[in-house]
Amino acid sequence: MSRPRSTVDILKLLDKSNCGQCGEPTCMAFAAKVFSGQKELGGCPVLDRSLVEENAAQGPGRRSMGQEMDEALAAMKKALAGVDLEEAAARLGARYGDGRLFIRVLGKDLSVDSQGRILTDIHVNAWVMAPVFEYITRGRGLAVTGKWLGYRELENGAPRYGLFVQRIELPLRQLADRYPDLFRDLLEIFSARQVENQLGSDLSIVLNPLPLVPVLICYWRPEEGIESDVKILFDDTADKNLSTESIFTLCAGLVQMFEKISMKHGFR
Ligand code: SF4
Repeated sequence: MSRPRSTVDILKLLDKSNCGQCGEPTCMAFAAKVFSGQKELGGCPVLDRSLVEENAAQGPGRRSMGQEMDEALAAMKKALAGVDLEEAAARLGARYGDGRLFIRVLGKDLSVDSQGRILTDIHVNAWVMAPVFEYITRGRGLAVTGKWLGYRELENGAPRYGLFVQRIELPLRQLADRYPDLFRDLLEIFSARQVENQLGSDLSIVLNPLPLVPVLICYWRPEEGIESDVKILFDDTADKNLSTESIFTLCAGLVQMFEKISMKHGFR
C-alpha cells in the first residue's frame, strides 16, 4: 500500500471485526489512531504479520505524525531563541520576569525562557506545546470577543474541516460516550467552566488551552435512536492569535491528553 492518505486507507487493511483486542472499541478507532501516529499498525493482533511488515516497510522515510510533531516542536523552540520575550509578554497581555514569559495553559502556570526551556505543573504533549510556542512567537494578542465560530469558518479552515471532524470531533465524541466523567474531569483538572448550553447542546464547557484561544465544547448525549454529537467552537479572534493549522494541532493534542486521562481511570 502506498502511504495512507486517510483513516479509511488503513481501515481497508483491517478485518473490521471490532473485536477490541487492540484496546480500541472499533477497527475505525484503531485506524484513526494509526493514521494520527498514536498507534502502530502492529498493534492489531488479528492482522496478518506479513501485511504488518509490508506496510511498516512502506515508505522509507515514512514518518509518523508524532515524529513530524517532534520536529515541528524543535523548530518552534529554535524560533523562540530570536523572540524578545518581554515584548511578547506585552503583546499577549502576559507576565515577564527573570528572563521568563509566564502564561496560563489549560488553567495552569507555564513559563518559558528564550531557549525554549519550560517550567510547568502540567504535562503537555508536543501537540499542545508546539502551538504554545507559535502563540508566543506570532500571536497578535487580540482580545476575545465571545463570538463563537466553527473550525470551517476560521481562515483557511474549510478545506481541513472534514479532517477536523474525523480526527478531533469524532474521537472526542466517542470518548465522551464511553467515559461519562470526561467533562467533570475537564472542569476539575483544567479549570474549564461550564457555560449556558450553546446550540441546543446538553452540556457546554469552555476550556482555555491558551489565554486568548478559548475553546467551547458542546456535547449532545445519545438518545434512543439518536447518536451523540460533539461540536468544538472557537472565538472569532482565534485564528489571529494562533494559525488555523496550529488550532487543529492544539485540539488534536487536547484529545490525546483527554484520552490518557480516561485510560488512567480504566476507560479505553
Ligand atoms: S484488534 Fe484489529 S480487528 Fe480487533 S478491533 Fe482492533 S483493529 Fe479491529
